[in-house]
Amino acid sequence: MLSVEEALTQLLADIAPLPVEEAPLIECLDRVLARDAVADIDLPPFANSAMDGYAVRAADTAGASEANPRRLPVVGEVAAGDPGTTPLPPGAAVRIMTGAPVPPGADAVIPVEQTRAHEDAVELLAAVGRGASVRPAGDDARRGQRVLAAGAVIRPGEVGLLASIGYARVPVYQRPRVAILSTGNELVPVDQAPGPGQIRNSNAGMLAAQVLRSGALPVELGVARDSREAVHAALDAGHGCDLYLSSGGVSVGAYAVVKAVLEERGGIGFWRVNMRPGKPVAFGRIDGIPFLGLPGNPVSSFVTFELFARPLLRKLAGHRLLARQIVPVNVEDGARGAGSRRNYVRALVRWEADGWHAVTTGAQESHLLSSTVAINALIVVPEGGGDLTPGARAMALLLDWPESDVGSGDR
Ligand code: AMP
Ligand code: MG
Repeated sequence: MLSVEEALTQLLADIAPLPVEEAPLIECLDRVLARDAVADIDLPPFANSAMDGYAVRAADTAGASEANPRRLPVVGEVAAGDPGTTPLPPGAAVRIMTGAPVPPGADAVIPVEQTRAHEDAVELLAAVGRGASVRPAGDDARRGQRVLAAGAVIRPGEVGLLASIGYARVPVYQRPRVAILSTGNELVPVDQAPGPGQIRNSNAGMLAAQVLRSGALPVELGVARDSREAVHAALDAGHGCDLYLSSGGVSVGAYAVVKAVLEERGGIGFWRVNMRPGKPVAFGRIDGIPFLGLPGNPVSSFVTFELFARPLLRKLAGHRLLARQIVPVNVEDGARGAGSRRNYVRALVRWEADGWHAVTTGAQESHLLSSTVAINALIVVPEGGGDLTPGARAMALLLDWPESDVGSGDR
């Protein structure tokens, strides 16, 4: 049986980032910059004032103080957006606003708080040095300078920086499109009441949500009945996607039709991964498109998506960091081991003064979707290591950076 790490290494081995597209800036949030971003102008583009005050020559402020104010005539005003081309004569001041260009000849700004205004003059109550309260041109970046390297993840700060250098459209890796296929004769749509022997299709929506959370786009292929023809037809409908994701039909049962179809189409590796939940996982390519066949049990689907599909989608999207953050936790209520298999236990972790603490969601059987709500982590119970007693240390994968509102609904 493969370890999770071995399976992941095989899975990612021949996955390359998708082609690059130019997307509108705001659609690039959380995506990966595909080429270096270079400043087309100096940032800031011109020397400007950091304060509301008076533009002066620093030399004209020498010796000024509360007790010994220096009086200068005010010969004009420059506001943000003014071209600011009128020079400052020696021995004078110009009223200036934050962000306004510093007039030629001025080399400092004295903040309004250090002045006393008069009709046509200003009293300076302090001396300032050259460059005081002036933001020089190119202080942030120089024209032609690389401000972001290819591979950078575009977050709100990056959006701001890219905007300032004219990137209305940004070269980013395409968002992966994921064809989601559910299999099973027992499945009915969410808006129908299940009849005898039937259940609602919960995996399709859950996987679509996980796909979205991974920065990719879900494409619903619907439900295929447990027949090879139905699965073949569904796969054909998924052409043009970057990944097939199926749930169900990969175990050893007589209705493991996904497995049968994949064998017919060739190029598929079946894994038994040394983990719980979710031992059976299929991976390969169908007509060149990567295929990941997740188990049907909802919790197994959820966990195997996290461990295998998410890193794969991140690699397709050009991310370099593929894995979740892992932190050491104190498992307050303990957790069961899964014998010789590694167990992934759903839990809610929180930060305390002495480190991370985790509380599990109790019973962990792979049909219990209630064990995957109000969680933000998967505790890793090592293979072959037995149970974790209350208070034991373990590592946990953070699914969400713990936010105070996870699991805070009324009980
Ligand atoms: P399978 O892997 O097809 O043998 O399915 C294993 C278990 O998962 C069975 O109890 C199925 O009914 C259940 N299951 C399979 N697909 C789904 C789905 N889309 N939504 C909810 N449960 C499912
Ligand atoms: Mg099935």
